Amino acid sequence: MLPLDLPALRASLVNASRKEASDLTPPDLDGLDWDRLDLLGWRDPRQPRRAYAVVPFPGDGDVGVEGSGDGGVGVVRGVLLRQADAVPRRRAQCAWCQDVMLPNDVVFYSARLAGPAGRRGATVGTLLCRDFECSHNVRVLPPLAYQGFDRDAARAERVRVLRERSRSFVETVLSGATDG
Ligand SMILES: [Zn+2]
Repeated sequence: MLPLDLPALRASLVNASRKEASDLTPPDLDGLDWDRLDLLGWRDPRQPRRAYAVVPFPGDGDVGVEGSGDGGVGVVRGVLLRQADAVPRRRAQCAWCQDVMLPNDVVFYSARLAGPAGRRGATVGTLLCRDFECSHNVRVLPPLAYQGFDRDAARAERVRVLRERSRSFVETVLSGATDG
């Protein structure tokens, strides 16, 4: 994804109040390898249990190509997340990267829906890698499942699925904006 600055992160949040957006503490933005991120997820270093996931939505043009016009770069949309008290069963799987090697903890996150539905208290929850290791996980070359197995194609497919699933979650949060 393309690099973002703090104002862009704050402006991206679709389900946060103005106060919540201004309270956001970013990760070390200069230290990130943006080329290897499908989304930017992090836990707020100053607010326990609070986290964010900012997801690119490419436009209709050349996907993600910088300078290709309005349609190419697209927009980013972010969601404010809260880690739930519930503890997932052992060997839980992240809904976004679906990693089966379990290199990291998976926890329950919930997001308030955007708009009127969210103000009425509606939330949506999902199991995610605790520190949003998803982009890294899907780039690990999978084992050779059988002779002739195309590992690069399998990896590319996992990247595609991660992007699709994270966008779909943000769209679910956004659906609250049009409900009632
Ligand atoms: Zn994950």
